[in-house]
Amino acid sequence: MVVVMKERASEGEIDAVIARLIDLGMDVHRSSGATRTVLGVVGAQKVDPQLVAILDGVHEVLRISEPYKRASRSFKPTDTVVSVGDVRIGGDEVVVMSGPCSAETDEQVMATAAAVKRAGAKILRGGAFKPRSSPYSFQGLGEPGLQMLRRAADVHGLAVVSEVMDAAQIELVGRYADIYQVGARNMQNYTLLRELGHARKPVLLKRGIAATIEEWLLSAEYILAGGNPDVILCERGIRTFETATRNTFDVSAIPVVKKLSHLPIVADPSHGAGRRDMVAAMARAAVAAGADGLMIEVHIDPDHALSDGAQSMYPEQFEQVMRELRIIAPAIGRTICVAPAPAMKDR
Ligand code: PEP
Ligand code: MN
Repeated sequence: MVVVMKERASEGEIDAVIARLIDLGMDVHRSSGATRTVLGVVGAQKVDPQLVAILDGVHEVLRISEPYKRASRSFKPTDTVVSVGDVRIGGDEVVVMSGPCSAETDEQVMATAAAVKRAGAKILRGGAFKPRSSPYSFQGLGEPGLQMLRRAADVHGLAVVSEVMDAAQIELVGRYADIYQVGARNMQNYTLLRELGHARKPVLLKRGIAATIEEWLLSAEYILAGGNPDVILCERGIRTFETATRNTFDVSAIPVVKKLSHLPIVADPSHGAGRRDMVAAMARAAVAAGADGLMIEVHIDPDHALSDGAQSMYPEQFEQVMRELRIIAPAIGRTICVAPAPAMKDR
């Protein structure tokens, strides 16, 4: 870090700051200009910048390295590619994960899986454990829902991503899903993140509703530090003052994450927009901005969906946006849905 002293900081104050930093195990390099003294501080330890900022005579403390390590691009310069069977997330191909918000019935999941597979999705999404804002809303079917997703995915040659809400559900969800989804509301459930660090399957980590990108990458760090290298980030919109859309879809998070981290990032324009008539535009923007994949809610009968019906696309709308994305992806050197995924039984 760099400590900038106040213009009129006394020699006594400067010496006291240097002594404190040395006491904290740091090396200090002093440079004194005509009006100000600047201290360059290096060392193996991480020092809380706030501890230094409150010392007498300090004007400003600037951090020069990120507070996360394993998630950072400086730690690992090359892009991480997460493999799920023969689907690779973070490579040249933009991978599409699609399906209903919630698994509701065998027929609904099976028909939606068929539709999204036909349109080019590689991964079937669907929740069996639903984090709903109201305790009176549909909470998901639990294990029977996971069974529906697994059956439909196997029939149609798709992988499964499904939400885990609690550390106690990891074993159960892992029996049926290929990727654990951590929802926005759980991005800072550190007990869950720690446990997923020991899991042997990839984790799709959604950005919290009011989380900064730094907080999001620190949450990824929990999983990576636990020994699980397969983290996929998912931008799903954040809460702002704007009320015209359900959330404000932060397209800029995509290039920001690409710069700061080696982890793949996918975009969820469904929760980002919250209205199906705006999902396609946000999906196109996300791919153009460099997203490694998309998560899109599709329902065969969204008007009767038990959750998130308004933002769930009709299968025809999904086919249409996939056609558009097949034009956008090559324009930025990416492919999308190059070959149909083989049946899961072959994996
Ligand atoms: C979901 O994917 O259906 C979901 C609940 O998403 P989020 O956690 O982003 O709200
Ligand atoms: Mn949803």
